[in-house]
Amino acid sequence: MTLDRRHFLAGAAGASATLLTGCATPGAADKPMPFFIGTAGQSLMPRGKAPRVVVAGGGWGGLTAARHLRKLAPQAEVVLLEKNPVFFSCPLSNKWLVDVVDDSFLTHDYLRVADRIGYRYVQCEVTQVDRAARRLHTTAGWLDYDYLVLGPGIRYAYEAWFGDDAEGRAAADATRRRFPAAYIPNAEHFTLKRALRSFKGGDWVMNLPPPPQRCPPSPYERAYMVAWYFKTNGIKGKVTILDHKPRIAPIGPGFKAAFEELYKDYITYVPNAHVQQVDPFNQRIRTSAGDMHFDHAVLMAPHQAGDLAWKADAIGRRPDGQATGWTDVHPQKLHLQGDDRVYVIGDAVGQVSPTFRFYPKAGHVANQHGQIVAGYIAERLAGREPAVRLPDNLCYMMVNASPREAISVQFDYQVGAEGHIEQKQIDDNDRRAGLVVENFRWAGLKFEDMFG
Ligand SMILES: Cc1cc2nc3c(=O)[nH]c(=O)nc-3n(C[C@H](O)[C@H](O)[C@H](O)COP(=O)(O)OP(=O)(O)OC[C@H]3O[C@@H](n4cnc5c(N)ncnc54)[C@H](O)[C@@H]3O)c2cc1C
Repeated sequence: MTLDRRHFLAGAAGASATLLTGCATPGAADKPMPFFIGTAGQSLMPRGKAPRVVVAGGGWGGLTAARHLRKLAPQAEVVLLEKNPVFFSCPLSNKWLVDVVDDSFLTHDYLRVADRIGYRYVQCEVTQVDRAARRLHTTAGWLDYDYLVLGPGIRYAYEAWFGDDAEGRAAADATRRRFPAAYIPNAEHFTLKRALRSFKGGDWVMNLPPPPQRCPPSPYERAYMVAWYFKTNGIKGKVTILDHKPRIAPIGPGFKAAFEELYKDYITYVPNAHVQQVDPFNQRIRTSAGDMHFDHAVLMAPHQAGDLAWKADAIGRRPDGQATGWTDVHPQKLHLQGDDRVYVIGDAVGQVSPTFRFYPKAGHVANQHGQIVAGYIAERLAGREPAVRLPDNLCYMMVNASPREAISVQFDYQVGAEGHIEQKQIDDNDRRAGLVVENFRWAGLKFEDMFG
């Protein structure tokens, strides 16, 4: 049976998932209208007396921040800028790939959510951030901010594979179109699902990029769901996991047991497979662990903070001047180093600790960052110094779709004696149905927190 959102949310976030193609108007806070035609050179909306908080990027982090700002800082004008008309959730998308949940479980239209919660939503792309002037330029016009929350998610650094000349860009484009990673919502996910449905057999290859990456355990979950699909539908296919790491992590023993007991005939796991060359035209991949042809592949170039973070000049630098690829934030306050009017949330957040380095790039963490930063801004608007809050993380990974079974991992954080954030990791490797139930309960609560 395919589950839809109603089974879990009991109507709480029961907005229909109508796929809108229009834009929201910035002009009507109480009643957004479906279409707004703006141009880049005009002012997007006039300044009122209220302080303005702009949230750029309406993913797991941005949606949470916008909703909590509305609640915690009712005196502020809250504006959400998002390039897509419809939200598509990456969490649970591996289950959607094999029809454990349907489209309506993963999608929400932004306009309805903004309308219900009472912030302004503008469908547009942020093209430039002028931090000195506290002004954003977008495809629909420019607007000024008092506080800015950046939640841009990630980008794929295809140039690490192909270089940045015309030929390289063509290879990157072909890779993204034909063999997408499907780690950025949402068109890529549909390409991936179509590829799985039309796969007639042969070699299905997935590579894992070097850390840090978005949701480290989810590529294994995806490989297992694809293997389950082959096994269930009698498809003579083999999934090869080319892992940059020396072993499966996190929840390695749980994934390994599922591999041994359920998918030995369907999965080949290759550790230490560092990608050296990718040829999307001849369907070949070369790694330090070997060279292979593929019939279909999920090709994952290294991850970095989304383009918007680069446009905001928010990327950190190493001592040699090289970009770190991730934003340079105050580890506990989450604003940019040197600019306390600009906060970063979610996957784009850079190193926060010298020991574990990065928070897991997970929707759970992005959601918590959204809450935390909304609280920080509300406190500052009220003239108070915010107390530091740290996130936690909880991730469920389905390893079998019949019967439905999952494993999970939890992370807790605290500030240690040295003043650094410390991480505690608890793996639950015991594959069982109860964790699937918990996973859907978790999703229901998160969606309620983001969509009201
Ligand atoms: C297959 C898969 C499974 C996963 N499973 C889990 C899981 O089980 N649990 C979990 O916690 N996490 C999971 N994750 C990770 C989770 O999806 C991410 O960590 C989370 O989405 C990060 O939130 P974010 O707000 O930082 O980025 P996103 O959710 O990606 O949001 C970024 C938003 O910014 C918008 N944007 C970017 N640039 C611009 C611009 N210039 N102008 C306007 N808008 C812009 C984008 O359109 C997007 O909507 C999974 C990810 C994948 C791919």
